[in-house]
Amino acid sequence: ARPHVLVIGGGYGGATAAKYVRMWSEAAIEVTLVEPNASFVSCPLSNLVLGGSRQLGELTMSYAALSSKHGIRVIHDTARAIDAVQRTVTLAGGQVLRYDRLIVSPGIDFMFDDLPGSSTAMHAWKAGPATLALRAALEQMPDGGTFVMTIPAAPYRCPPGPYERACQVAQYFSRAKPRAKVLILDANDDVVSKGALFKRIWSQRYRGMIDYRPQFKTVRAQANAVFSELGDRVDAHVLNIIPPQRAGAIAVQSGLANLNQRWCGVNFLSFESTVHANVHVLGDAIQTSPFMPKSAHMANQHAKVCAAAVVDMLGGRAPDAHPVLTNTCYSFVSDSDVIHVASVHAYDAAQKTLIVVPGSGGVSANASAQEGVYAFNWARNIWADTLG
Ligand code: FAD
Repeated sequence: ARPHVLVIGGGYGGATAAKYVRMWSEAAIEVTLVEPNASFVSCPLSNLVLGGSRQLGELTMSYAALSSKHGIRVIHDTARAIDAVQRTVTLAGGQVLRYDRLIVSPGIDFMFDDLPGSSTAMHAWKAGPATLALRAALEQMPDGGTFVMTIPAAPYRCPPGPYERACQVAQYFSRAKPRAKVLILDANDDVVSKGALFKRIWSQRYRGMIDYRPQFKTVRAQANAVFSELGDRVDAHVLNIIPPQRAGAIAVQSGLANLNQRWCGVNFLSFESTVHANVHVLGDAIQTSPFMPKSAHMANQHAKVCAAAVVDMLGGRAPDAHPVLTNTCYSFVSDSDVIHVASVHAYDAAQKTLIVVPGSGGVSANASAQEGVYAFNWARNIWADTLG
Protein backbone atom coordinates (compact mmCIF):
# COMPACT_ATOMS: atom_id res chain seq x y z
CA ALA A 1 0.00 0.00 0.00
CA ARG A 2 1.08 3.56 -0.54
CA PRO A 3 2.15 5.52 2.52
CA HIS A 4 -0.57 7.71 4.01
CA VAL A 5 -0.03 11.26 5.28
CA LEU A 6 -2.85 12.71 7.35
CA VAL A 7 -3.05 16.49 7.78
CA ILE A 8 -5.07 18.16 10.57
CA GLY A 9 -6.13 21.72 9.73
CA GLY A 10 -6.73 23.25 6.29
CA GLY A 11 -5.37 26.72 7.00
CA TYR A 12 -2.24 28.34 5.57
CA GLY A 13 0.06 25.65 6.99
CA GLY A 14 -1.98 22.48 6.63
CA ALA A 15 -3.49 22.99 3.18
CA THR A 16 -0.08 23.92 1.77
CA ALA A 17 1.59 20.90 3.36
CA ALA A 18 -1.11 18.55 2.02
CA LYS A 19 -0.72 19.91 -1.50
CA TYR A 20 3.08 19.82 -1.52
CA VAL A 21 3.37 16.28 -0.07
CA ARG A 22 1.10 15.16 -2.88
CA MET A 23 2.97 17.11 -5.60
CA TRP A 24 6.52 16.38 -4.46
CA SER A 25 5.81 12.66 -4.04
CA GLU A 26 4.29 12.70 -7.54
CA ALA A 27 1.10 11.26 -6.04
CA ALA A 28 3.00 8.27 -4.60
CA ILE A 29 1.76 9.28 -1.12
CA GLU A 30 -1.94 9.24 -0.22
CA VAL A 31 -2.92 12.49 1.51
CA THR A 32 -6.01 13.15 3.65
CA LEU A 33 -6.84 16.62 4.96
CA VAL A 34 -9.21 17.07 7.91
CA GLU A 35 -10.75 20.55 8.26
CA PRO A 36 -14.11 21.44 9.84
CA ASN A 37 -14.82 24.57 7.80
CA ALA A 38 -16.52 24.16 4.42
CA SER A 39 -14.50 27.08 2.98
CA PHE A 40 -11.15 28.73 3.62
CA VAL A 41 -11.41 32.26 5.08
CA SER A 42 -8.23 34.35 4.98
CA CYS A 43 -7.09 36.23 8.08
CA PRO A 44 -4.66 38.26 5.93
CA LEU A 45 -6.64 41.22 4.50
CA SER A 46 -9.47 40.66 7.04
CA ASN A 47 -8.61 43.95 8.77
CA LEU A 48 -9.74 45.60 5.49
CA VAL A 49 -13.24 44.26 6.20
CA LEU A 50 -13.18 46.32 9.40
CA GLY A 51 -11.97 49.34 7.41
CA GLY A 52 -14.80 48.77 4.94
CA SER A 53 -12.84 48.43 1.68
CA ARG A 54 -13.22 44.64 1.38
CA GLN A 55 -16.03 42.14 1.97
CA LEU A 56 -15.44 38.85 3.79
CA GLY A 57 -16.77 37.03 0.69
CA GLU A 58 -13.72 38.27 -1.25
CA LEU A 59 -11.49 36.51 1.30
CA THR A 60 -13.47 33.24 1.27
CA MET A 61 -12.25 30.43 -0.98
CA SER A 62 -13.05 26.83 -1.91
CA TYR A 63 -11.09 23.69 -1.01
CA ALA A 64 -12.31 21.99 -4.21
CA ALA A 65 -9.05 22.12 -6.19
CA LEU A 66 -7.19 20.23 -3.46
CA SER A 67 -9.25 17.16 -4.33
CA SER A 68 -10.10 17.72 -7.99
CA LYS A 69 -6.63 18.85 -9.08
CA HIS A 70 -4.33 17.22 -6.54
CA GLY A 71 -6.20 14.08 -5.50
CA ILE A 72 -6.24 14.93 -1.79
CA ARG A 73 -9.07 13.40 0.20
CA VAL A 74 -10.68 16.29 2.09
CA ILE A 75 -12.84 15.40 5.09
CA HIS A 76 -14.87 18.19 6.70
CA ASP A 77 -14.71 17.17 10.35
CA THR A 78 -12.73 17.96 13.51
CA ALA A 79 -9.86 15.85 14.83
CA ARG A 80 -10.67 14.98 18.45
CA ALA A 81 -7.81 12.67 19.53
CA ILE A 82 -4.37 11.60 18.35
CA ASP A 83 -2.97 8.19 19.30
CA ALA A 84 0.70 8.57 18.47
CA VAL A 85 1.48 4.95 19.40
CA GLN A 86 -1.21 3.32 17.26
CA ARG A 87 -0.78 6.13 14.68
CA THR A 88 -4.47 6.92 14.52
CA VAL A 89 -6.60 10.05 14.66
CA THR A 90 -10.22 9.94 15.83
CA LEU A 91 -12.61 12.48 14.34
CA ALA A 92 -15.59 14.09 16.06
CA GLY A 93 -17.85 12.13 13.71
CA GLY A 94 -16.39 8.87 15.06
CA GLN A 95 -14.19 7.92 12.10
CA VAL A 96 -10.72 6.56 12.98
CA LEU A 97 -7.96 7.27 10.45
CA ARG A 98 -4.58 5.54 10.35
CA TYR A 99 -1.46 7.40 9.24
CA ASP A 100 2.19 6.78 8.49
CA ARG A 101 3.00 10.40 9.20
CA LEU A 102 0.72 13.05 10.69
CA ILE A 103 0.98 16.81 10.06
CA VAL A 104 -0.78 19.03 12.61
CA SER A 105 -1.46 22.69 11.74
CA PRO A 106 -4.39 23.74 13.93
CA GLY A 107 -3.46 27.41 14.27
CA ILE A 108 -4.20 29.08 17.60
CA ASP A 109 -6.87 28.92 20.27
CA PHE A 110 -7.65 31.63 22.80
CA MET A 111 -6.74 31.43 26.50
CA PHE A 112 -10.00 32.92 27.74
CA ASP A 113 -9.28 31.61 31.25
CA ASP A 114 -6.29 33.96 31.48
CA LEU A 115 -8.55 36.94 30.83
CA PRO A 116 -11.92 36.41 32.55
CA GLY A 117 -14.79 38.07 30.75
CA SER A 118 -13.05 38.01 27.38
CA SER A 119 -14.85 35.06 25.80
CA THR A 120 -17.94 37.05 24.89
CA ALA A 121 -16.04 40.00 23.41
CA MET A 122 -15.43 40.12 19.65
CA HIS A 123 -11.84 39.04 18.98
CA ALA A 124 -11.93 39.00 15.17
CA TRP A 125 -8.59 37.15 15.43
CA LYS A 126 -9.94 34.22 13.41
CA ALA A 127 -11.51 35.63 10.26
CA GLY A 128 -15.22 34.82 10.01
CA PRO A 129 -18.34 35.68 11.98
CA ALA A 130 -16.37 37.62 14.64
CA THR A 131 -14.95 39.89 11.90
CA LEU A 132 -18.46 40.67 10.66
CA ALA A 133 -19.74 41.24 14.21
CA LEU A 134 -16.94 43.72 14.91
CA ARG A 135 -17.56 45.58 11.64
CA ALA A 136 -21.29 45.82 12.48
CA ALA A 137 -20.46 47.18 15.95
CA LEU A 138 -18.17 49.82 14.42
CA GLU A 139 -20.94 50.86 12.03
CA GLN A 140 -23.40 51.17 14.91
CA MET A 141 -21.01 53.08 17.19
CA PRO A 142 -21.95 56.76 17.69
CA ASP A 143 -19.66 59.47 16.34
CA GLY A 144 -17.62 60.62 19.33
CA GLY A 145 -17.44 57.06 20.71
CA THR A 146 -14.26 55.13 21.56
CA PHE A 147 -13.10 51.87 20.02
CA VAL A 148 -10.81 50.06 22.48
CA MET A 149 -8.52 47.23 21.35
CA THR A 150 -6.42 45.18 23.77
CA ILE A 151 -3.24 43.40 22.62
CA PRO A 152 -1.82 40.39 24.52
CA ALA A 153 1.83 39.97 25.44
CA ALA A 154 3.85 38.50 22.55
CA PRO A 155 4.02 35.87 21.16
CA TYR A 156 0.63 36.01 19.45
CA ARG A 157 -0.62 35.43 15.88
CA CYS A 158 0.46 38.16 13.42
CA PRO A 159 2.68 40.65 15.33
CA PRO A 160 1.79 43.73 13.17
CA GLY A 161 -1.90 42.76 12.85
CA PRO A 162 -3.32 44.79 15.77
CA TYR A 163 -1.51 47.94 14.66
CA GLU A 164 -2.78 47.48 11.09
CA ARG A 165 -6.25 47.09 12.58
CA ALA A 166 -5.90 50.41 14.43
CA CYS A 167 -5.11 52.11 11.09
CA GLN A 168 -8.07 50.47 9.36
CA VAL A 169 -10.54 51.47 12.06
CA ALA A 170 -9.11 55.01 12.18
CA GLN A 171 -9.42 55.30 8.44
CA TYR A 172 -13.07 54.26 8.61
CA PHE A 173 -13.68 56.73 11.44
CA SER A 174 -11.98 59.61 9.62
CA ARG A 175 -14.54 59.23 6.85
CA ALA A 176 -17.67 58.12 8.73
CA LYS A 177 -17.25 59.29 12.38
CA PRO A 178 -14.59 62.00 12.54
CA ARG A 179 -15.01 62.63 16.30
CA ALA A 180 -14.54 58.94 17.22
CA LYS A 181 -11.34 57.64 18.85
CA VAL A 182 -9.18 54.51 18.70
CA LEU A 183 -7.53 53.51 21.97
CA ILE A 184 -4.89 50.76 21.87
CA LEU A 185 -4.13 49.03 25.18
CA ASP A 186 -0.95 47.03 24.58
CA ALA A 187 0.41 44.54 27.13
CA ASN A 188 3.82 44.87 25.47
CA ASP A 189 6.45 47.50 26.27
CA ASP A 190 6.20 49.00 22.79
CA VAL A 191 4.67 48.39 19.34
CA VAL A 192 5.78 44.82 18.58
CA SER A 193 6.38 45.18 14.82
CA LYS A 194 7.29 48.12 12.53
CA GLY A 195 6.98 50.36 15.60
CA ALA A 196 8.59 53.55 14.34
CA LEU A 197 6.63 53.40 11.08
CA PHE A 198 3.27 52.76 12.70
CA LYS A 199 3.79 55.54 15.24
CA ARG A 200 4.75 58.00 12.53
CA ILE A 201 1.70 57.05 10.46
CA TRP A 202 -0.61 57.42 13.47
CA SER A 203 0.74 60.89 14.23
CA GLN A 204 0.64 62.03 10.61
CA ARG A 205 -2.42 60.42 9.01
CA TYR A 206 -4.59 59.85 12.08
CA ARG A 207 -3.47 62.72 14.29
CA GLY A 208 -5.56 63.03 17.44
CA MET A 209 -7.58 59.94 16.61
CA ILE A 210 -5.32 57.06 17.75
CA ASP A 211 -4.11 56.92 21.34
CA TYR A 212 -1.48 54.26 22.15
CA ARG A 213 -0.90 52.98 25.70
CA PRO A 214 1.94 50.45 26.11
CA GLN A 215 2.39 48.26 29.22
CA PHE A 216 -1.34 47.99 29.76
CA LYS A 217 -1.83 44.38 30.77
CA THR A 218 -5.55 43.61 30.56
CA VAL A 219 -6.46 41.02 33.21
CA ARG A 220 -10.26 41.16 33.29
CA ALA A 221 -13.11 42.33 31.12
CA GLN A 222 -16.82 42.93 31.30
CA ALA A 223 -19.30 44.24 28.78
CA ASN A 224 -17.62 47.32 27.29
CA ALA A 225 -14.94 47.73 29.98
CA VAL A 226 -11.50 46.30 30.72
CA PHE A 227 -9.30 46.36 33.81
CA SER A 228 -5.51 46.43 33.97
CA GLU A 229 -3.39 44.46 36.43
CA LEU A 230 -2.95 47.76 38.30
CA GLY A 231 -6.73 48.10 38.63
CA ASP A 232 -7.22 50.83 36.00
CA ARG A 233 -10.64 50.70 34.34
CA VAL A 234 -11.12 51.70 30.72
CA ASP A 235 -14.59 52.02 29.16
CA ALA A 236 -15.31 51.42 25.51
CA HIS A 237 -18.19 51.95 23.12
CA VAL A 238 -16.85 49.06 21.06
CA LEU A 239 -14.47 46.63 22.74
CA ASN A 240 -12.13 44.40 20.76
CA ILE A 241 -10.18 42.06 23.01
CA ILE A 242 -7.44 40.10 21.27
CA PRO A 243 -7.03 37.37 23.90
CA PRO A 244 -3.77 35.61 24.83
CA GLN A 245 -3.19 32.62 22.58
CA ARG A 246 -1.71 29.17 22.45
CA ALA A 247 -1.52 26.27 20.00
CA GLY A 248 -4.88 24.98 18.78
CA ALA A 249 -6.70 22.71 21.26
CA ILE A 250 -5.88 19.41 19.53
CA ALA A 251 -2.15 20.13 19.94
CA VAL A 252 -2.57 20.92 23.63
CA GLN A 253 -4.84 17.91 24.31
CA SER A 254 -2.52 15.47 22.57
CA GLY A 255 0.52 16.63 24.55
CA LEU A 256 2.25 18.20 21.53
CA ALA A 257 2.30 21.62 23.22
CA ASN A 258 5.24 20.76 25.47
CA LEU A 259 6.41 24.34 26.02
CA ASN A 260 4.42 25.73 28.97
CA GLN A 261 1.35 23.87 27.69
CA ARG A 262 1.27 26.60 25.10
CA TRP A 263 3.41 26.02 22.02
CA CYS A 264 4.75 22.91 20.30
CA GLY A 265 8.46 22.15 20.14
CA VAL A 266 9.71 20.86 16.78
CA ASN A 267 12.91 19.86 15.03
CA PHE A 268 13.28 22.64 12.46
CA LEU A 269 14.80 20.34 9.81
CA SER A 270 11.59 18.35 9.49
CA PHE A 271 9.04 20.07 11.77
CA GLU A 272 8.73 16.71 13.54
CA SER A 273 7.44 17.11 17.07
CA THR A 274 9.94 16.84 19.93
CA VAL A 275 7.24 14.86 21.81
CA HIS A 276 5.83 12.28 19.36
CA ALA A 277 7.66 10.54 16.52
CA ASN A 278 5.97 10.57 13.08
CA VAL A 279 3.96 13.66 14.06
CA HIS A 280 4.88 17.02 12.54
CA VAL A 281 3.58 20.40 13.72
CA LEU A 282 3.73 23.70 11.87
CA GLY A 283 2.30 27.20 11.56
CA ASP A 284 1.19 29.36 14.46
CA ALA A 285 1.10 26.35 16.83
CA ILE A 286 4.88 25.95 17.11
CA GLN A 287 7.40 27.57 19.40
CA THR A 288 9.62 29.86 17.36
CA SER A 289 12.56 32.08 18.08
CA PRO A 290 11.57 35.69 18.85
CA PHE A 291 12.30 36.85 15.33
CA MET A 292 10.11 34.28 13.58
CA PRO A 293 6.63 35.74 13.49
CA LYS A 294 3.43 33.72 13.56
CA SER A 295 2.36 34.60 10.03
CA ALA A 296 0.64 33.00 7.05
CA HIS A 297 3.82 33.49 5.05
CA MET A 298 5.87 31.61 7.67
CA ALA A 299 3.22 28.84 7.93
CA ASN A 300 3.50 28.44 4.15
CA GLN A 301 7.28 28.12 4.45
CA HIS A 302 7.09 25.68 7.37
CA ALA A 303 4.68 23.62 5.26
CA LYS A 304 7.13 23.34 2.37
CA VAL A 305 10.13 22.38 4.55
CA CYS A 306 7.89 19.87 6.35
CA ALA A 307 6.40 18.45 3.11
CA ALA A 308 9.86 17.94 1.60
CA ALA A 309 11.07 16.26 4.81
CA VAL A 310 8.02 13.99 4.99
CA VAL A 311 8.48 12.88 1.37
CA ASP A 312 12.19 12.24 2.05
CA MET A 313 11.61 10.39 5.33
CA LEU A 314 8.89 8.15 3.86
CA GLY A 315 11.34 7.41 1.03
CA GLY A 316 14.05 6.42 3.52
CA ARG A 317 16.14 9.57 3.00
CA ALA A 318 17.30 12.17 5.54
CA PRO A 319 15.70 15.62 5.22
CA ASP A 320 17.67 18.51 3.73
CA ALA A 321 20.11 19.83 6.36
CA HIS A 322 20.04 23.46 5.16
CA PRO A 323 16.50 24.80 4.93
CA VAL A 324 16.07 28.52 4.20
CA LEU A 325 12.72 30.27 4.78
CA THR A 326 11.45 33.75 4.02
CA ASN A 327 8.83 35.97 5.62
CA THR A 328 7.00 39.09 4.48
CA CYS A 329 4.21 40.81 6.38
CA TYR A 330 2.40 43.65 4.65
CA SER A 331 0.22 46.03 6.66
CA PHE A 332 -2.47 48.25 5.13
CA VAL A 333 -2.30 51.65 6.80
CA SER A 334 -5.20 52.84 4.57
CA ASP A 335 -7.31 51.30 1.74
CA SER A 336 -4.38 51.50 -0.61
CA ASP A 337 -1.14 52.37 1.20
CA VAL A 338 1.01 49.65 2.68
CA ILE A 339 4.21 49.04 4.67
CA HIS A 340 6.13 45.78 4.93
CA VAL A 341 8.65 43.90 7.06
CA ALA A 342 10.65 41.08 5.49
CA SER A 343 13.28 38.60 6.68
CA VAL A 344 15.19 35.47 5.63
CA HIS A 345 15.72 32.60 8.10
CA ALA A 346 18.31 29.82 7.79
CA TYR A 347 18.87 26.71 9.89
CA ASP A 348 21.74 27.02 12.33
CA ALA A 349 23.09 23.57 13.20
CA ALA A 350 24.77 24.73 16.43
CA GLN A 351 21.64 26.41 17.82
CA LYS A 352 19.29 23.86 16.18
CA THR A 353 16.90 26.63 15.19
CA LEU A 354 16.15 29.02 12.34
CA ILE A 355 17.94 32.32 12.68
CA VAL A 356 17.69 35.56 10.71
CA VAL A 357 20.35 35.74 8.00
CA PRO A 358 22.45 38.81 8.86
CA GLY A 359 21.79 41.69 6.47
CA SER A 360 18.63 40.11 5.04
CA GLY A 361 15.22 41.75 4.97
CA GLY A 362 14.19 45.11 6.39
CA VAL A 363 11.20 47.43 6.63
CA SER A 364 9.64 50.03 4.33
CA ALA A 365 10.92 53.59 4.48
CA ASN A 366 7.38 54.92 4.03
CA ALA A 367 3.86 53.73 3.26
CA SER A 368 3.07 53.69 -0.45
CA ALA A 369 0.42 52.71 -2.98
CA GLN A 370 3.09 50.76 -4.87
CA GLU A 371 3.45 48.47 -1.87
CA GLY A 372 -0.35 48.22 -1.83
CA VAL A 373 -0.12 46.61 -5.28
CA TYR A 374 2.55 44.22 -3.98
CA ALA A 375 0.42 43.35 -0.96
CA PHE A 376 -2.66 42.40 -3.01
CA ASN A 377 -0.42 40.37 -5.33
CA TRP A 378 1.16 38.66 -2.30
CA ALA A 379 -2.34 37.65 -1.18
CA ARG A 380 -3.39 36.35 -4.60
CA ASN A 381 -0.16 34.37 -4.89
CA ILE A 382 -0.33 32.75 -1.47
CA TRP A 383 -4.01 31.83 -1.95
CA ALA A 384 -3.15 30.16 -5.27
CA ASP A 385 -0.16 28.43 -3.66
CA THR A 386 -2.26 27.16 -0.74
CA LEU A 387 -5.45 26.13 -2.51
CA GLY A 388 -4.95 26.26 -6.29
P1 FAD B 1 -4.76 28.70 10.38
O1 FAD B 1 -4.55 29.35 9.07
O2 FAD B 1 -5.59 29.37 11.40
O3 FAD B 1 -5.37 27.26 10.08
C1 FAD B 1 -5.72 26.37 11.11
C2 FAD B 1 -6.84 25.47 10.59
O4 FAD B 1 -6.94 24.33 11.41
C3 FAD B 1 -8.20 26.17 10.60
O5 FAD B 1 -8.77 26.12 9.32
C4 FAD B 1 -9.00 25.36 11.62
O6 FAD B 1 -10.37 25.24 11.30
C5 FAD B 1 -8.30 24.01 11.57
N1 FAD B 1 -8.38 23.21 12.80
C6 FAD B 1 -8.14 23.61 14.07
N2 FAD B 1 -8.32 22.59 14.92
C7 FAD B 1 -8.66 21.52 14.17
C8 FAD B 1 -8.98 20.16 14.49
N3 FAD B 1 -9.00 19.71 15.75
N4 FAD B 1 -9.31 19.32 13.46
C9 FAD B 1 -9.30 19.75 12.17
N5 FAD B 1 -9.01 21.03 11.83
C10 FAD B 1 -8.69 21.89 12.82
N6 FAD B 1 -0.16 36.59 8.14
C11 FAD B 1 0.58 37.04 7.07
O7 FAD B 1 1.53 36.38 6.63
N7 FAD B 1 0.27 38.22 6.45
C12 FAD B 1 -0.77 39.00 6.86
O8 FAD B 1 -1.02 40.06 6.28
C13 FAD B 1 -1.55 38.56 7.97
N8 FAD B 1 -2.59 39.31 8.42
C14 FAD B 1 -3.34 38.86 9.46
C15 FAD B 1 -4.39 39.65 9.92
C16 FAD B 1 -5.18 39.25 10.98
C17 FAD B 1 -6.31 40.12 11.47
C18 FAD B 1 -4.92 37.99 11.61
C19 FAD B 1 -5.77 37.52 12.74
C20 FAD B 1 -3.86 37.20 11.17
C21 FAD B 1 -3.06 37.63 10.10
N9 FAD B 1 -1.97 36.86 9.65
C22 FAD B 1 -1.20 37.32 8.59
C23 FAD B 1 -1.56 35.62 10.37
C24 FAD B 1 -2.07 34.33 9.70
O9 FAD B 1 -3.47 34.36 9.57
C25 FAD B 1 -1.66 33.10 10.51
O10 FAD B 1 -0.31 33.19 10.88
C26 FAD B 1 -1.90 31.82 9.70
O11 FAD B 1 -3.28 31.68 9.46
C27 FAD B 1 -1.31 30.60 10.39
O12 FAD B 1 -1.57 29.43 9.66
P2 FAD B 1 -1.92 28.08 10.44
O13 FAD B 1 -2.03 27.00 9.42
O14 FAD B 1 -1.01 27.90 11.59
O15 FAD B 1 -3.36 28.38 11.08
